[in-house]
Amino acid sequence: MRRVSIFGATGSIGQNTIDLIARAPEEYSVVALTGGANIEQLAQDARRLNAQVAVTAYDDKLDALRAALEGSGVEAAAGRTALIEAATRPADWVMSAIVGSAGLEPGLRALQQGAALALANKESMVCAGPLMLETAKTHGGRILPVDSEHSAVFQALIGEDMAAVERVVITASGGAFRDWPLEALANATPAEAATHPNWDMGQRITIDSASMFNKALELIETREFFEIEPSQIEAVVHPESLIHALVGFRDGALMAHVGPPDMRHAIGFALHWPERRDLPVARLDLAALGQLNFRKACETRWPALRLSRSVMETRGLAGAVFNAAKERALDGFLDGRIGFTQMAEVVEEVLSQLSSGDGLTPATLTLDTVMRADHLARERADAIMARRAAN
Ligand code: NDP
Repeated sequence: MRRVSIFGATGSIGQNTIDLIARAPEEYSVVALTGGANIEQLAQDARRLNAQVAVTAYDDKLDALRAALEGSGVEAAAGRTALIEAATRPADWVMSAIVGSAGLEPGLRALQQGAALALANKESMVCAGPLMLETAKTHGGRILPVDSEHSAVFQALIGEDMAAVERVVITASGGAFRDWPLEALANATPAEAATHPNWDMGQRITIDSASMFNKALELIETREFFEIEPSQIEAVVHPESLIHALVGFRDGALMAHVGPPDMRHAIGFALHWPERRDLPVARLDLAALGQLNFRKACETRWPALRLSRSVMETRGLAGAVFNAAKERALDGFLDGRIGFTQMAEVVEEVLSQLSSGDGLTPATLTLDTVMRADHLARERADAIMARRAAN
């Protein structure tokens, strides 16, 4: 039996992972399931999958989790230390699907145990790509991309020589506001931003799709994961979300990965890698589909794409700063402190404040330096939003 753990089990990726594992329970021994506020879901899945331990990230939820697990034999634990402890329990395959930079340390700990890490948490590669790759290498672990675009690139590269790769094209649906007039964006509400035309995802990533901060993170993730130059990476708007990414080779060939917008493909690919197994995803009827469309990704509509270029050039701690500032700006948009278009303005200001200071490009990244940059960027973003509110 394969020992598996799922970090962020109660979220959108976590639930899709559980859907796949629950279809063949005899193949898996579930070590840890972790969640945040959704205790009912966490307890229900921990019981159903007979997990060793269920962990909520929040200390004050421990009593509720204990009560929900009473008589099940599943251990209950809470808080950041418990989350990290769960990541050090031996497992063969670990899903990293906590949202935000909070997912970085559990993923690193799992890699230190030599686990295969299925990485949905793109923030880990954005904030600390070289550290993630180095940790996997040192401890004999492996990182398998779960973001659909990166899974697509990974699959297109199987058996290929990286030296023959000319470019990687990442597709973007364009999110909720792809066809809105530019002048309407300033007044867009969180509810409007949180509706995605094609994908059914968590609230934060759906809003990040509307602003293209999600795509910006993915461009940086592409740079870090596949170790290719920023000039070789591009984004294109593809409203149908059926082609997830394309890899262009020096002989002019362009290999596209095509599939329905269902995360269970990328999750299942990572779960069964290096094999391919049956997955419960729809098969595309190309004739019924008729046509696929593409448009240029406009950096005026989506300034996050422009910002991602400078982050890919700077590297070092710029990714951690970019991501943390983006997370705080998103909090500010969600709680009404700033408008939709101001998110990119806040992130740009944090980047320019911090990139002029020392220490953004240390020779080696450590968890400590990354978390300090994360903390500093959050403080700066809060200060900028407070100053804007006061004016
Ligand atoms: P969700 O918001 O749906 O789920 C997030 C999970 O993380 C939940 O289990 C949540 O617990 C938990 N969580 C939230 N905050 C914390 C914290 N501070 N500490 C520990 N756990 C926490 O997110 P998604 O599933 O949509 O996304 C997860 C990751 O995967 C993100 O990095 C996202 O960018 C990436 N991703 C997602 C895709 C998708 O289709 N959804 C596609 C590709 C990548 P609870 O809900 O119980 O509070």
